[in-house]
Order: sequence, then structure tokens, then C-alpha cells
Amino acid sequence: MALSQAITIIESNLEQDKKLSTELLDKIIHATGKSIRVGITGVPGVGKSSFIEALGRHVTAFGKRLAVLTVDPSSQVTKGSILGDKTRMEELSKNPLAYIRPSASGNALGGVTQTTHDVVLLCEAAGYEIIIIETVGVGQSEINVKSLVDFFLLLMLAGAGDELQGIKKGITEIADAIVITKADGGNISSADAAKATYQQALHLQRVPKSGWLPRVITTSAYAGTGIDEVWRMILAYKELTTANGFFADHRRLQELEWFEDYFKQLLALDLQQSPIVQSEKKKLEALITEQKLSPKHAAANLLKIYHREIKSSED
Ligand code: GDP
Repeated sequence: MALSQAITIIESNLEQDKKLSTELLDKIIHATGKSIRVGITGVPGVGKSSFIEALGRHVTAFGKRLAVLTVDPSSQVTKGSILGDKTRMEELSKNPLAYIRPSASGNALGGVTQTTHDVVLLCEAAGYEIIIIETVGVGQSEINVKSLVDFFLLLMLAGAGDELQGIKKGITEIADAIVITKADGGNISSADAAKATYQQALHLQRVPKSGWLPRVITTSAYAGTGIDEVWRMILAYKELTTANGFFADHRRLQELEWFEDYFKQLLALDLQQSPIVQSEKKKLEALITEQKLSPKHAAANLLKIYHREIKSSED
């Protein structure tokens, strides 16, 4: 089945597609896990699509296959998109070794990253060796994406006051590298200055469990500078963390987290769909409000009711 078709099924909310998508994932799961997953984030206009295009051009020149999944958390709410309506990554989209796909925006249950995680698995099974997950640097999205990727790149502009903001927000703590974009023409000296500031800030942080010390690289998508350095850095990360065992451990942990996440989601759905639990919950809420029952006791009672409900449905 074509990758795009498979992704459409994974993203679908129709009941028959949900069953199909579970079967589909079962079929391909043995063929997953062999890529390097790279998260790329940054504010709108920082140069994400230009950078990804340049990186894509670079890696596909070696014959590597690259998938780019763009996650835009705003598109559901506003029906518009921070990532813009313009054709992004036009050159890369024509490259036969590249696959670009906007990821489904969040729905009530599932959310952006759960679906994206399954899409990553599909891309791996389809033989993509590098998977880029691009998010806009707003809100929680970049933190969530961390649970999807091996390596996390933060794109920053020099001289936009970003330096201190990024450090303050703690985003730099989750980044494996900071890439300063648009280091060309008159921007070169401010890019170098920003690099020094970041390096200093990163040196103050503890060495992460991965054993990898975050790096700062200046790049220009226009001039093509720094792109090879970024690619070699990603390879160096994979080499180091494969050798020290972190790469595989981290992946395993992530998969177990997804399991937990899915289970909680299914449980919540099951509870919501039980009329008895819902009506008993209302009664318990009233008792809490009237100070006749403690929230703790009410919760324990509700769990008993739920267990009884499950048991009776099995009989
Ligand atoms: P995104 O919104 O983060 O995806 O950013 P884009 O890649 O669309 O770039 C935003 C703007 O910055 C566009 O006008 C680009 O032409 C410009 N831009 C992107 N990369 C570079 C670069 O390497 N150098 C310069 N000078 N401008 C760039």
C-alpha cells in the first residue's frame, strides 16, 4: 500500500479505519526503528523550511531517503496555519528521495503527536532513513515532539533577542543542538556573537544522560554553509549514543511511554462511553459539593462502579 494511503488511514477518525490502522501497524512494526528521527523547531520565519530544504538537498545527494513531517498545532484551532499557505520546500517536494507530509492537526482524542508517532513508524517501514519532524516553536509542541525524536534541533535567529528568551524558557535544555540560521551577508558577525552566547549558556548545563554535549552551529540555507556540519553532527550523535547504549534505551523508553499514553487515552474513552459511570459520577459530584463525601472516597467508589460495570459486561 502506498505510504500516503496508509497515513490517511492512520489519521482517520472513522471506526472502520481505526481497526484497519491497528492491523496495519501490527504488520509493519517489525520493520520499524531503523531511522534517525530529528526534531526541528523554531519560531515562524526563523528559516525552518529553507534549512530543511538545504539539509534535504545535502542528504539526498548521498542517496539517503528523507521524510519530513510538519506538525502545525495552530491549524486545527484557527483553520489557518502558522506554517503558511505558500508552497513550502518546493524543491524537496519534487525530489524522488524525499517525502513531505503535513501531519494531522490535533483532534479531541489522539492529539498531534500520537498520530505523528504512528506516521513515523509507517515512514520507517517504508524505508525512510532520516525522518524530520518539524514544529513551530510555540507552546508545548516542541516539548511533546521531544518524545518522538532521537535528536532535537532548535533553530534560532541571531540578534532577535532570541538568545535570552530561549535560555529562559528552558528550551535550550531539551535541545541537542542550536542552529543559528541566516548566517550570511551582514548577519555573519551577529550570528557568531549569538553562537558564543549560546555556547557559554550550554556549557553551564549538566552533561545529559546521552553523554552528548549540545553544540551550536551557524548556518545559511542561502549560501549552503554549515549544512554539512549539521549533518555530520547528527551522525556523530548517532555514533556516540549507539556506542554507549543510550540510543536504543531512549527509543525503548519512548515506545513504552507511547504505550502508557495510548492506554490512558483508551481508558478515558471507555469511562466517557459508560452511561452508568457517567450518571454515578454526577451523583458523587453532588455528594462532594454538599460535603457529604470526600473526593478521595468518591473516586474509590467510582472505580468500584466501573469495575462492576466491566464485570457485568463480561458475564
Ligand atoms: P520558516 O517560517 O521558519 O519555515 O522560515 P522560511 O524558511 O520560510 O524563511 C523565512 C524567511 O527567511 C524567508 O523570507 C526566507 O527567504 C528567509 N531565509 C531563509 N533562510 C535564509 C538564509 O539562509 N539566509 C537569509 N538571508 N534569509 C533566509
